[in-house]
Amino acid sequence: MNDTASVAPRIRAVDRVYRAMPTSDGAGVRLNRVIGQPGLPDLDPFLLLDEFRSDQAVDYIAGFPDHPHRGFETVTYMLAGRMRHGDNQGNVGLLGPGSVQWMTAGRGIVHSEMPEQEDGLLHGFQLWVNLPARDKMTAPRYQDIDPAQIPTIDVGAGVRVTVIAGQVGNTRGAVDTGATEPTYLDVQLAVGTGFAQAVPIGHSAFVYAYHGEVQVGDGPRAKTLTTGELGVLSPGEEIRVAASAGAARLLIVAGKPLSEPVVRHGPFVMNTMTEIRQAVDDYRAGRL
Ligand code: MN
Repeated sequence: MNDTASVAPRIRAVDRVYRAMPTSDGAGVRLNRVIGQPGLPDLDPFLLLDEFRSDQAVDYIAGFPDHPHRGFETVTYMLAGRMRHGDNQGNVGLLGPGSVQWMTAGRGIVHSEMPEQEDGLLHGFQLWVNLPARDKMTAPRYQDIDPAQIPTIDVGAGVRVTVIAGQVGNTRGAVDTGATEPTYLDVQLAVGTGFAQAVPIGHSAFVYAYHGEVQVGDGPRAKTLTTGELGVLSPGEEIRVAASAGAARLLIVAGKPLSEPVVRHGPFVMNTMTEIRQAVDDYRAGRL
């Protein structure tokens, strides 16, 4: 025996499975919380993953009126419907189907996220990505990206991948990312197809199935995720997914863990309690 015997297998396996939990946030928006639920408060560097999906206006119409953020990034990915964004620095934007907003809150913004539509399907995701201590007080920054600017590539027959962040083969994602080097892919698999993605061995990674069933990993360690399940993956060099029971859609997300203290108070995520108190004071004093 030597140390190499304990090296992780190359292909990542599902370590733990979490089911999205129905909850409500904002002014009463019904959504499914995947990361940020009691059993999975975070997955360093990811602090939250919400899926909002409803064709009932009462579930979403109240939206997310003015609220602050400090210390991390919010990533909104729309599949259906429209969300209007505005902040206290005069930035405005309308996110339509297929668009992404990667917002680096940094030292702070106060913004609103409001459904533009009054009926029809609203479907999308919001992911929170932590910032390292050195970047938490950086100037706020928006990357609003139209669907036309987000590469969607066919990786073989029946396999379509939208590259929001990271790299698939020679295709680079649309977002300019920072210290956590995130990978964020939306993968569509026809029945009987599969996809493999290389990821840095030490990055945290998960697969979230949002349509159909997704087989993750290979051989005896393969596991099937059903719609609304997130699989936290073991370390490894490659993620493998496949659709055997029917067409499937899923997110593959990975990022470099920060391994820093996380002190969280609602929309503020800092490293110490003192920084949280400062954030609350700054917000109350109108300094965000
Ligand atoms: Mn927000």
